[in-house]
Amino acid sequence: MLGICPNCEKETTLEFIKRDENIIVRNEPIKVNVEFYKCVECGVEFRDPKSLNDPLAIAYREYRHVHNMVQPEQIKEFREQYNITQQELSNLLGWGGATLSRYENGALQDEAHDTVLRLILEPRNFRDLLENKPEVVSELKRKKINGLLVDSMKGFEKSFMIMYEELFGRYKPSKYSGYKELEIAKIFNSIIFFCKDSDVPKTKLNKLLFYADFKHFKEYTVSITGAQYAHLPFGPAPDHYQYYLAALDNEEENIRIEERVFADYIGEFLVVTTNPNLSYFSTSELKILTTVKEYFSNFTAKAISELSHREIGYQSTKDGDLISYEYAASLNI
Ligand SMILES: [Zn+2]
Repeated sequence: MLGICPNCEKETTLEFIKRDENIIVRNEPIKVNVEFYKCVECGVEFRDPKSLNDPLAIAYREYRHVHNMVQPEQIKEFREQYNITQQELSNLLGWGGATLSRYENGALQDEAHDTVLRLILEPRNFRDLLENKPEVVSELKRKKINGLLVDSMKGFEKSFMIMYEELFGRYKPSKYSGYKELEIAKIFNSIIFFCKDSDVPKTKLNKLLFYADFKHFKEYTVSITGAQYAHLPFGPAPDHYQYYLAALDNEEENIRIEERVFADYIGEFLVVTTNPNLSYFSTSELKILTTVKEYFSNFTAKAISELSHREIGYQSTKDGDLISYEYAASLNI
């Protein structure tokens, strides 16, 4: 094609060229398909300044993709979804005014900022932040955002949160939650993990959850799910566990609670027909979940109940008490 060469400063024949080039982003070569023109008279290569195909922007996008980082449009969409301004979000995050704007326009965020961005895109974290900094947005706006946040949660999680929090309020991480925020998606997927291949009696499931959280605390000083466990007559169980189970039974098609009649008793079993989403769990959490599932695979509900009655955390508490994770040090497994 004919065009103006910036070097010859006159109309010459320009060759359109596309080729792969490595662009170095944070010491990593990122392969990008770049487009440019070459003047056939003087040989100079130059980019069309009107082109939207900015190689650096493409390289950043690819780098973010490879490293599972937040893309600029995700931040914009998030703000639009909840109708908050760049200034409001900056204030919530405690960032300077220009930072967020630069990221939305394609600058590559640093790692610490990316971690914060990824956390904030989770509805529950965003809600916590709004609660902790109520001065940043008006009360009316906060109420609207809270409504949207609850709507964006999934069936079981939503129904459980509303029910549980209305009845019992929220709790902060403490020795009773294994120093962790309650993560309902993890409880949900732990339940599916434990019940996937064989139907598990309800009383056994409660102990499996207890042993997984306490075993993880014993080894890593933090629980998996953030659940609190109470001393109940049949052993330790997630506090108010009937609410988890009722929410699961009502909201999830792939989980049923079935009553089964045996010679001398009626038992409730969890029947699961879906696969757990294991991407919620870290490597250490998966290791502990697997260990606990295998260790107790041949235990009846009665046998695991008896073992749990011998735990010092159980013996040192009374009916209805919460069991501190500090007792995990002496756990029998
Ligand atoms: Zn030229």
